[in-house]
Amino acid sequence: MREAGKIVAEVFELMREKIRPGVTTGELDLAAERLILHHHAKPLFKGYEGFPAACCMSVNDEVIHGIPGKRELKPGDILSVDVGAEIYGFCGDAARTFPVGEVTPEVAELLRATEASLYAGIEMAVIGNRLGDIGHSIQTVAEAAGLGIVQDYVGHGIGREMHEAPDVPNYGRPGRGLRLAEGMALAIEPMLNLGTGAVRTLPDGWTVVTLDGKPSAHFENTVAITADGPQILTVL
Ligand code: MG
Repeated sequence: MREAGKIVAEVFELMREKIRPGVTTGELDLAAERLILHHHAKPLFKGYEGFPAACCMSVNDEVIHGIPGKRELKPGDILSVDVGAEIYGFCGDAARTFPVGEVTPEVAELLRATEASLYAGIEMAVIGNRLGDIGHSIQTVAEAAGLGIVQDYVGHGIGREMHEAPDVPNYGRPGRGLRLAEGMALAIEPMLNLGTGAVRTLPDGWTVVTLDGKPSAHFENTVAITADGPQILTVL
């Protein structure tokens, strides 16, 4: 899983280099897919329930599951890239939201707080804690920043399959839910909005957008629960 995670992390390094005003989400997706294939890994999203690309590319008010295409990024946009890779029969899944050029202070704070909420959740991914501890920790950071929590979509277990049990909500009550044990791996993935946490799906059947049209950010890591504490697998 660490090998799969490193490939996913490399995709983000490549995106960081390539994201600029004028580039299309389709061009970025193609570059990401080439990198995954170069490692003889499988782009997990491509063909997943018919999804047509290697990455989900979600811009501004798009929360998740945006389809890469001809859309050109503009200064002030934010782009969420969600990507998965499989190698040696194991999966890695992660997401980052990138600013395109200068973004407003409000949007910069959305990105900062969403990433901070992910790391607050990861800190709780220790043996003996419960799923509710992870969700509560994310929720606390989100609410302190005044952000809306997307509740319709959640994180998940991950291993030989990208989506395994259990669900990992981005909200919860401390001390409640499944007890965390050594060897579990979770994809923890807060999706936080500048406005309401309510979302809807566009007629393309994939793209999930905020109900109020305000921007949304998404940060995700695949995390292993070990005797040495949480190990983030989707970093270099
Ligand atoms: Mg995921």
